Amino acid sequence: MTTYTREQVGKLIDGKLDWDTTMRMLSMPKDNERFAMYLEALQKKVAWKDRIVLPLGPHLYVAQSAQSGKWVTKCDCGHEFGDYRENWKLNAAVYVRDTEEAMAEVYPKLMAPDTGWQVYREYYCPTCGTMHDVEAPTPWYPVIHDFEPDIEAFYEEWVGLPVPARAD
Ligand SMILES: [Zn+2]
Repeated sequence: MTTYTREQVGKLIDGKLDWDTTMRMLSMPKDNERFAMYLEALQKKVAWKDRIVLPLGPHLYVAQSAQSGKWVTKCDCGHEFGDYRENWKLNAAVYVRDTEEAMAEVYPKLMAPDTGWQVYREYYCPTCGTMHDVEAPTPWYPVIHDFEPDIEAFYEEWVGLPVPARAD
């Protein structure tokens, strides 16, 4: 079984591995030490004191508020999107690419989808402007709530670490 050194985990945190690889690594069979190291390294990167419970993306986390003890969705910069069970995208700044011109900024011309059946929705942090997610739905499709992570099960079944306390 592969184990990861602190240095390798550091590289992972610095974004030298893409997010899919990161999640694949994290969802490999139980390795609580690796997950603990990962969280520790993430925690060092952020300026705030709230405890990181789970990363949701390269710059987005579920964290335990040091003030209230509640779990919130939180950006690198400290911006809070609300309760972790709510869809954070509804509190994000959204940019919709639904014209040929806007699509041309991200797609090579002939590969751009027809905006009649597909648009790009980009979700940004309203405070620091980091893009946290992109969807490519049909124009009429409602905002997608990717998943409501079952964090308790993730800790117990996958990482084998005690679940951080939650105030509510
Ligand atoms: Zn931010």
